[in-house]
Amino acid sequence: MSTLNHQTLQQVARLLDDADAILIGAGAGLSAAAGINYLDREKFAQVYPGWVKKGFRTQYDLMGYSAWTQREQWGYYKVHLEYVYFSQKENPLYRALYERVKDKTHFVMTSNVDGLFYKSGFDRHQVYTPQGDYGKIQCTVPCSQEVWDIKPFLDKMDESFDSMAQVLTSDEAVPKCPNCGEDMFIHARIDGSFIDTVHEEERQRLIEWLNANMDKKVVVLDLGSGFNTPTVIRKPMEQITASFPDTTLVRVNLDHANVPPSLGDKAIAVQGDIRAFVEGISQPVSTA
Ligand SMILES: [Zn+2]
Repeated sequence: MSTLNHQTLQQVARLLDDADAILIGAGAGLSAAAGINYLDREKFAQVYPGWVKKGFRTQYDLMGYSAWTQREQWGYYKVHLEYVYFSQKENPLYRALYERVKDKTHFVMTSNVDGLFYKSGFDRHQVYTPQGDYGKIQCTVPCSQEVWDIKPFLDKMDESFDSMAQVLTSDEAVPKCPNCGEDMFIHARIDGSFIDTVHEEERQRLIEWLNANMDKKVVVLDLGSGFNTPTVIRKPMEQITASFPDTTLVRVNLDHANVPPSLGDKAIAVQGDIRAFVEGISQPVSTA
C-alpha cells in the first residue's frame, strides 16, 4: 500500500492528466478532511452547549439516538442543520478537488448529505446523492414521493426555540407533513421510509455518463469511503473499475485504503490524509 509520498502523488496526477473521464466516489472521510468531523468534541462544545449539559460529547453520539422527545430531537436538528448545512459555504478542499477535475468530464457519487460538492463548484446535475440531502425534509410515512426545502420548517421553529437548552418549547413547532399531518424527518436515509425516487433521475444520469465513458480512460477517485455502508460507494467503485477495460481506481483513505487484490494494477491504495492528497495531485507534474 502506498502512503502519501511524492512519487505516488505524481503517479496519480499523471493518471488524471491522461484520463478522459473522472468518477469521484466520496464518503464521510472526505467531509471529515474538509473539517466536518462528527467526533470533534471541541466543536461540539462550541455549537451545542445545551446538549453538552445533557451529557453528549460529539455529533456522532446523537446519530441514531432515539431516546428523546420530538421537541428535543428537532431542537437538536435545528442547530445541527444550521451548523453542518446552512452555515457551511464553499469549502476549500471540495473547491480544490473541483478545480483539479473540472476540465475533464466528471461525475460524483457520494454518501455525504452535506451538499458540499454543489456548494463548492460541482454541477448539481452531476452529483448523485443516494443517501439524501440535508437541505430537504420528507414525510416519515411517506404519504407521497414529495420532498420539501427544510429551511421554512426550521425558520418556523424560531419562536419556540430555547437557545440555552437547544430544544423546542412547543409541539406546534415540530414539523408535520403538509399533506397528511404525520411526522417528518430530514431527507437522509435512516430507514425504509427514505424516498428514493427523487434520486432516480440523478442515478439515471450517472448510468448514462458511465455508459458514455466505459471504454475510455477513466480514473475513479474513491475518497474517504469507509465500511459503515460499503455498498453505497466503496463496492460500486470497485465493481465499476473491475468491469471497465481501461479504468484505474485510486482509493484514498486514512484507515481503510485497502483494495481488492483481484483488481491487480488497476487499483492504487493510498493511505493518508485526503486534504494533503488533493494538494499533492494539484501540483504540476514534473516531466523528469
Ligand atoms: Zn405525509
